[in-house]
Formats: sequence, structure tokens, C-alpha cells
Amino acid sequence: MTLTGDYDVVVVGAGLGGLYAVHRFSQQGLRVVAIEGAGGPGGVWYHNRYPGARVDVDSIDYSYHFSDELMRKWNWTERYAAQPELLQYVDFVVGMFGLADKLILGTWVTEARWDGTDARYHITTSNGSCTARYLVMATGNLTVGKRPDFKGLDSFRGRWALSNDWPLEEVSVEGRRVAVIGTGSTGTQIVEAVGGLAEHLYVFQRSAHYTFPARNHPLTPEDQRETQSASELREVFCALPGATRMPVPTRPFSDYTLEEATAVLEKQWDSGGQAIMFQFADQSRNTEAAEYVSGFVRDKIRGRVADQDLAESLIPSYPLGVKRIALESHFYETLQRDDVTLVNLKKEPLVEFTETGIRTEAGLYEVDLIIFAIGFVAFNGALDSAGIVNEAGERPTDKWSRGPRTLLGLMTRGFPNMFVPTGPGSPSVIANLIVQNEFALDWIGDLIAYADRNGYRSIEPTEEAVDAWVDEGHKVSEKSIRRLHDNYMVKVNDDGTRILIPYAGGFRAYVAECRRIAEGGYQELRFR
Ligand code: NAP
Repeated sequence: MTLTGDYDVVVVGAGLGGLYAVHRFSQQGLRVVAIEGAGGPGGVWYHNRYPGARVDVDSIDYSYHFSDELMRKWNWTERYAAQPELLQYVDFVVGMFGLADKLILGTWVTEARWDGTDARYHITTSNGSCTARYLVMATGNLTVGKRPDFKGLDSFRGRWALSNDWPLEEVSVEGRRVAVIGTGSTGTQIVEAVGGLAEHLYVFQRSAHYTFPARNHPLTPEDQRETQSASELREVFCALPGATRMPVPTRPFSDYTLEEATAVLEKQWDSGGQAIMFQFADQSRNTEAAEYVSGFVRDKIRGRVADQDLAESLIPSYPLGVKRIALESHFYETLQRDDVTLVNLKKEPLVEFTETGIRTEAGLYEVDLIIFAIGFVAFNGALDSAGIVNEAGERPTDKWSRGPRTLLGLMTRGFPNMFVPTGPGSPSVIANLIVQNEFALDWIGDLIAYADRNGYRSIEPTEEAVDAWVDEGHKVSEKSIRRLHDNYMVKVNDDGTRILIPYAGGFRAYVAECRRIAEGGYQELRFR
């Protein structure tokens, strides 16, 4: 279908956020369409179809909670659904809510230009153009992958693939010599899936990453029968810091003896999951607490790896909680197989790619296939690639050279009527993204309804409101350990100031602020 016409809302992206946007805005009577570059819906779950891809938040929480009927009809098969099941869920939702005819697939937005004279975005795509009163960038924060720009890669005669733009056709690893570059959440999953299938797997690790047992297990329909309705559950999530039903610690580390603290961590070791990052109320701000948890996990790694040189290569140097941990099931056992080799790039730096493989300072590793799991152009990547410009010719991210300047992560000055659900300055990548998307899109839908009721054509946050939200972001992240160490969530400015891009005050506080602004009659916004 070629894109044409005028819409109330154009949503960019048909991932889990974009699909809910289409449903929500249609329900309130708006003419809406979602433009999606991929050949199908699903967003990250469409593109990240690499071997072993699986969600790392409990699926019963990482689900939509806007429909009792959907919750009743859909059952997950495992605690953490694998990527194919997530795409089945996406297709199920598209079918159940009749969203297919509102999705323009295989179409890339190349420009979205705001014009104040007709109060519309003029949107150009690879497949036609249109106008829209509102632009909703449901493009996600981890969307555009980093491109590998390694010396000599062009000369490599084998095949290479990107984890976050995985080919639709099968990429065979069996019986081949395979290299994986990168050992974050993605690389860890790939190593587990490919180890043992490949003739030999070489794992190129620049920095060791914290992992924690996933403790994945099958789920029965009984396991996931909810006692609360969808709307009740949404309120439950809105009162939680991470928008997932992980226990929320109330006591600081200093309340525990070391024996008690270890017992708490052992219990979490047995149940597995991301909650290891939230065992003590002050774990994200108290270096002593973070170091204690880090020491516990480091010792567990040493206990699982027989060769202590290999174990030391796998011990992260920074405190646990800085980067998002990777969940694993047999990562360390895989790395100890005879047909798997860890290449520690700290000990033998990468020199170049050659026709036959990868050369480090220690020698040449000959491989047939290279898998890059090197991460994303986080936060700004997809916003920049959509070519959003205002009347002054600026891009939204031009205003963020020293860290994001948004109201609630949702709106940016100079870009009226543009919304970025779960954008930089919202909890974004540190809280459950489906729950956040539902909340943010409801808030945006209510705001559009308010503007329409009052005959307003454009909405923009005030300078004061943006300043206040940026200050609030700095305040709540001041003591954050995550902010003090390099990772993709931190923007380091030339003068050394370090900005934590996600809002670190927790989803509960974020919800309260969004609601305060709406209930106060949107004093923080300027309507025209
Ligand atoms: P990532 O955390 O940014 O990890 C990228 C990896 O590539 C790191 O090990 C990095 O090393 C390495 N790397 C980057 N450039 C390199 C280079 N030039 N040479 C050698 N190594 C290089 O990316 P990710 O693993 O894709 O994960 C990103 C986020 O996606 C996660 O935090 C998580 O939120 C999400 N994710 C979720 C799931 C899930 O739900 N199961 C799965 C995958 C990802 P350094 O550490 O030294 O930079």
C-alpha cells in the first residue's frame, strides 16, 4: 500500500509500542497509521532474530495489559519467551485487534518536517508521503545497530551478520567456524545457542559482562492465571519502580549482617532473573552494597569455571548494576567446551580482519562466519534516521548535545505535536517497556483529546517545564552508581559531566509526575 493522505496521527514503528499506539488512537476515533520499515510488525523482536534471542524480563509482565480478553486468551510457554514466540504474540495481537490494515510495512520514513502554517508534519517515505497532525515516534531506544567499522572487514571472504539486523534467510552455524564479537546480553545468548553446534566457536570479548542465572522454566496456563483485571494490574505496575512484579526491597544494605546479606543473595541465585540488581533498597546508590553483590556474583563465576585464568578473564571490573545484566543458563559451561574458545581482547587486542578471519596481537583466528553483537546507537539512532526537522531546520537530537532535553522523555521544545513514548528522559531502558508504552500512549491520547476538545492545533512544552524535568533527572541520578561508569545509558560531555539518559527516579515517580501534569490542566505545556 502506498502512503498518501492526511492523518490525525502517524506512528513511526510497529513494534510493541507502535501497535498499542495504533490500537489506542483508533479506539478514541483518530485516523491513525503506523509506518514500519521492516516487512512485518514486532520491532526489536522482528529484527533481533539471532540464535538464542529471548526476552530477559518475565513474560507474564512483559505483555500487554490493556485487554482482559487478550490476557485470558494468550498463554506463554516459558518464563522468558523466545523470539519466535514473541513474534507469534505480535501476530496474535495484530489479528485480534484488527490492526493489519493500519500498518504500512516495508516503508522507511526519510523525512518528517513540521510546518507551523498548517500545523502538520509533512512525512516523506520510501513509499509515498502524507501529512499528520501528530507524530508519534514509537521507534524504541535500541533500534539502530552500531555498524562494524573494523579494519579489513571488507576483505573477509566468509559471511558476516549483525545480531540486531539478522537476515531473514537461515544463517547456518552447524559445522562452521564461527566468531561472535561482543559479550553483552545479546552476545551471551548467541554464545549459548551456537556453542556446540559450530565446528568451533571463538568468542571475542572486550569487557567481561555480569550475568546471572535465568532459571527459565516452562509455564502452564495455571501458572499465569491472573487474579486481577487488566486495569487493576496496570495500576499495580504503575506503583512499582521497574514496572515489573519483582519484589521491591525496603531495607538498606546496612540493615543486614553479612551472613544475612549473603542469604538474601543465595535465595535470589536460586530464583534467578534481573532482580539481583535490586536486593537492597540502596544497592543502586551505595558503593558498598553494590560491591558486596558484585563480589557474590564474581565468586559464583569463579566457582563455575575450573580454569582460574579463564575465570579471571570472565570477571567484570565494574560494579554490578552499571550495565544491564545478561541472563544465562549455561554460558560458563559453554565457554569451557573443547570446541569453544574465549578470546580476551584486553589481553590480545584486535588488529584487523583478513580474508580468512580475525587477527589479534596473539595470532589469526580463521573462521567462516562472523556474528557482530556489538550493540546499538542507543536512544538517538532511530530518531535521527527518520529525518525529523522543524521550521528552523533542526533535528530533535541537536538540542541534546549535552544530554536529552525533554519533558517526561515524551516531548521536545521546537517540535510541536511530536511525542516519543519511552524516549530519553523517561525510565526507558531501565523499566518494563510494554507497561511504559501503554502508560505513555494513554497519556498522549488523553492530551490529544484535551487539545481537540479545546480547539488547539499545536502543543509544545514550555522552556521552564523542560528545565525542571532535566533538573529532576539530574537530581535523581546524582548518586547513581550507573552514572559514574561508562555504559550506553550515560552521556559523557567534553567537560566531564556525566548524564544518565534514562530517568532514574523509578516508574512509580514518573507516573506520578505525568499524572500531576495532566490533572493540573497541562500548565507545563503551551497550546496554540
Ligand atoms: P551491549 O550491551 O552494548 O553490548 C555490546 C557488546 O559488544 C559489548 O560486549 C561490547 O564491549 C562489545 N563491543 C562493542 N564494540 C566492540 C568493538 N569494537 N570490539 C569488540 N567488542 C565490541 O549490546 P547488547 O548486548 O545488544 O545489549 C544491549 C541492550 O539490549 C541490553 O542492555 C538489553 O537492554 C537489550 N537486550 C535485551 C535482551 C533480552 O531481552 N533478552 C537481549 C539482548 C539485548 P564493551 O562492553 O567493552 O563495550
